[in-house]
Amino acid sequence: MISVEEALDKVLGYVTALDTEETPLLDALGQVLAEDVSSDIDVPPLDNSAMDGYAVRSADTAGASPESPRLLRVVDTVAAGSVSECEVAAGTAIRIMTGAPVPRGADSVVQFEDTDEALRSGVAGEVGVLAEVAVGLNIRRAGEDIGRGTTVLPKGTVVSPPEVGLLASLGRDRVRVIRRPVVAILATGDELVDLGEPLGVGKIYNSNSYSVAALVRRYGGIPEVLGIARDSEDSLVASLKRGLKADMLVTSGGVSVGDYDVVKEVLAKQGEIAFWSVRMKPGKPLAFGTIRGVSETGEVRNIPQVGLPGNPVSSMLTSELFIRPAIRKMMGKAQVTRPTFEAVVEDTVVNSDLRRIYARAVVEKRGGQYYARLTGPQGSGILTSLTVANALAIIPEDKVEVVPGDVVPVMMLDWGED
Ligand code: AMP
Ligand code: MG
Repeated sequence: MISVEEALDKVLGYVTALDTEETPLLDALGQVLAEDVSSDIDVPPLDNSAMDGYAVRSADTAGASPESPRLLRVVDTVAAGSVSECEVAAGTAIRIMTGAPVPRGADSVVQFEDTDEALRSGVAGEVGVLAEVAVGLNIRRAGEDIGRGTTVLPKGTVVSPPEVGLLASLGRDRVRVIRRPVVAILATGDELVDLGEPLGVGKIYNSNSYSVAALVRRYGGIPEVLGIARDSEDSLVASLKRGLKADMLVTSGGVSVGDYDVVKEVLAKQGEIAFWSVRMKPGKPLAFGTIRGVSETGEVRNIPQVGLPGNPVSSMLTSELFIRPAIRKMMGKAQVTRPTFEAVVEDTVVNSDLRRIYARAVVEKRGGQYYARLTGPQGSGILTSLTVANALAIIPEDKVEVVPGDVVPVMMLDWGED
């Protein structure tokens, strides 16, 4: 039995960042840039107004106040998207809307609130300026966000919503990123029935394929659900063949020590086993290795294969701890594991066989301190206590027991992916 850290190191040792693809901008959300992005335009492209108001020469506003307005002749109006043909000469102003290019001759914008515009119903052609404005006031300079030629997003940046906005502001509708891994998922078990089929006596629905596929998608991968293999080597080998083009193969079930647990044997015969048991709870019977596959071009590839335990909670938590980091590494992300922080436990947890327990918990902050409360029965088949959890409380493998008031690391499950 190896530690969670050793197991994770082994898994990560078998995967590397994948090749790149060009993708429509919005599809790149959550992927890692495979190119340095530089700008071939200034953003904003021209000096423009930050306010609705009047473009003026600041010298014309010297000494202006509500008691002593400076009267200017209004020669034009300019809205965002158009350019005024007129020039602001001494003693004149151009009415200007937010985002409109600053007209020639003007060096500042006085906002409507500092003019008598609102009081002037009917007096056309003139405006009284009620405040002195400094040169440059309310003007956004060309290139003040992004200067032409600068590298704005280096290779390796994760594309999050602000990056999507930035790329869009450069006019980029496609971008080169590291592609998403395809993860093939195969359930094993004679007792399994697929969704939509009637449930016979002694049978259960195949839930793992769907919960694991949902996690893979959430982590940024592309799940490929391969259905159900029966508990025989022949059935398993035949089903696995359909997943040999994937970047990672995931099976669930068949890795414990029961009579029909064939995944380990197949791993050993068709590839290589790296480990098959991890010092954690739930999730001890976790197998990992590689399966030999043949690519379309005929070359032999060793595909990483994760043999998840069959119990529904075990399969989800081991996905969280091992498949998520592997997917993130394949996607080129630098941060592959979730952060942990400390919380005060509010329940007693007994660790009878000294494994690292990942307990389903609700973590909340009260009075400046984080607390972790277990969500109920912790059996490895009890999915309901995972649905109400927002975190995992981690009970170290060297602790026989934790009692209310003890401090343990916790890992949030509902914090964003990036
Ligand atoms: P195994 O590791 O194959 O012995 O499975 C352990 C437990 O998990 C058994 O109770 C199985 O019925 C259950 N199990 C295995 N595969 C699935 C699945 N795909 N969906 C739901 N439960 C499963
Ligand atoms: Mg089984």
